Amino acid sequence: MIGSRWFFGSVLALAMPLAAQAQVIGVPYDDGQRLPPQAPVLPPPPLPVLEGSPYVIYPVRGGTFMISGPSANVLVQVGLDGVLVVDTGPAGDAAGLLREIRRLSPRPIRYILNTNADADHVGGNVGLSGIGQDIGSGNERPDGVQGYGATPTLAHEQVMFRLLEEGASEGLPTLTYFVAQKDIFFNGEPVSLIYAPGHTGGDSLVMLRRSDVIAAGDIYTPDRYPELALDKGGSIAAYLASLNHLIALTIPEFNQQGGTFVVPGHGRLSDEGDIQDYRDMVTFIHDRVKAMVDRGMSLEQVQAARPSQDYDVRYSREAGDRFVAQIYTSLTQPPLADEATLEVPE
Ligand SMILES: [Zn+2]
Repeated sequence: MIGSRWFFGSVLALAMPLAAQAQVIGVPYDDGQRLPPQAPVLPPPPLPVLEGSPYVIYPVRGGTFMISGPSANVLVQVGLDGVLVVDTGPAGDAAGLLREIRRLSPRPIRYILNTNADADHVGGNVGLSGIGQDIGSGNERPDGVQGYGATPTLAHEQVMFRLLEEGASEGLPTLTYFVAQKDIFFNGEPVSLIYAPGHTGGDSLVMLRRSDVIAAGDIYTPDRYPELALDKGGSIAAYLASLNHLIALTIPEFNQQGGTFVVPGHGRLSDEGDIQDYRDMVTFIHDRVKAMVDRGMSLEQVQAARPSQDYDVRYSREAGDRFVAQIYTSLTQPPLADEATLEVPE
């Protein structure tokens, strides 16, 4: 070994001029200069809105876009491989949504990912998957040929179970997962579905690792209180664990701003600081309700004490009462047999 290293070293010494050997690759650490503090890089402004369209397209980073409309947000990732869509809006809106997606890419829709089974997140599955193509199918499809389930649709298995329970026969996930995380690689980047229940028993975060963008589904909805669908496997404990998981995945760029961008299920594009505010709100209200439950107070007494009062100015008293009732019920009712449980590192 020593001999070969000596040989290799002397070949390098002969081949490279002295100046090149002294050159430092990258930024020298001892040049006495420091980079000035930088404001975070903010996303560009939204695209012009099409006439009559209810949708606004917000470029997020690289090939990722948030399509925001009257219903749940849609995250679209475009690239050489085609189009990946996270959530598809309500049924009956697929044509309008597709018109917006076509402004971003003419390529086939190769993947649909669903963050939960709510009608405003999966409704467009039928319309979008019918015109999409499996990545194994090549790039050509004869005119007029449509096929059910052409686009692979990924979601947690609880999404599939719930849609079947509700009697759905199309627009179902074609690939489901039941472990902590399901990974694919698309348009040059790792894409992970991360199990994060709480709103229901089948919520996923979708993380685009190179773009550094996460679709949070209804685990983070800054324009409203969380919706704990207790009859669908949701719970306040799992919701808080999933919010903390989301915070663990996001990394701010500067002064708690920028860095990882988060597309919420509903509401504005956010970064880690926004999610921490939201997590704090959910934690405060949970802790107040929990303290009252521990003192044996009834739901009526808890609601009369207004544990969400300081946030009701933002979201309305009616919504606060509903959220408090959901927390109360989640804390006092025995858990469903299949209630989601999740251990997340702090
Ligand atoms: Zn939703």
